[in-house]
Amino acid sequence: MLIGAHVDYEDPLAEATARNADVVQFFLADPQGWKAPETRPDAETLRASSVEIFVHAPYVLNLASTNNRIRIPSRKLLAQHAAAAATVGASGLIVHGGHVNKGEDVAVGIDNWRKALQQAQEKGGLPTRVLIENTAGGDNACARRFDELARLWDAVGEFGVGFCLDTCHAHAGGEKLLDIVDRVKAITGRIDLVHANGSRDGFDSGRDRHDNLTVMNDEPGMIDPELVAAVVRAAGAPAVVETPGGVEGQSADIAYLRAHQ
Ligand SMILES: [Zn+2]
Repeated sequence: MLIGAHVDYEDPLAEATARNADVVQFFLADPQGWKAPETRPDAETLRASSVEIFVHAPYVLNLASTNNRIRIPSRKLLAQHAAAAATVGASGLIVHGGHVNKGEDVAVGIDNWRKALQQAQEKGGLPTRVLIENTAGGDNACARRFDELARLWDAVGEFGVGFCLDTCHAHAGGEKLLDIVDRVKAITGRIDLVHANGSRDGFDSGRDRHDNLTVMNDEPGMIDPELVAAVVRAAGAPAVVETPGGVEGQSADIAYLRAHQ
């Protein structure tokens, strides 16, 4: 199983070496901004590397939004990031499931997802596979609870999207980790990547605060790390930790997952 980490975008291969990671994930632009990614001088090196690469889209991107001023730029940003991700040889572009606002119908958000992917297809298709990630919070999310995820997949499954399962988001979002791989695959038929994270918050808290798998401080993890390791084993997909503690914290988490394969 390929195991690695979400790392800084400056020199992802050096970060991979420092953590003994087989796979890295990084942003191509400010995750809180709308700027298009810049051309990377190391694109060819990244593409040729034996380290598998995933790119995470900015958090501001929300393809489900009913707000034109978010939804339309989100489509543009998706296309820009999918193109830039292809230049570095990324196996997938991770995009959060998105949400509509309070009082709005999630079904509209799901239809907006479908329209975005339909439009992308009509323009020739995206050069990097979109991996939709489950999220932790909100009552109007498209991919927090799996009943909504099933509706989302009915709408977008035909466009060749993949799925990224985040263990922190599932736990905090109110989906139990036990047998979760079977429940996801019954909906999506696939898991392309696991975000193997602990959580600083309790089950169904709706909060998104990642924690290490190996305890780095006095605070006990809110998720049994054995369960996270079991998810990675069952998924049969690459896994990255998006955990705190820099090289030291992430290296320990990676080593833990490897020791439990
Ligand atoms: Zn994640």
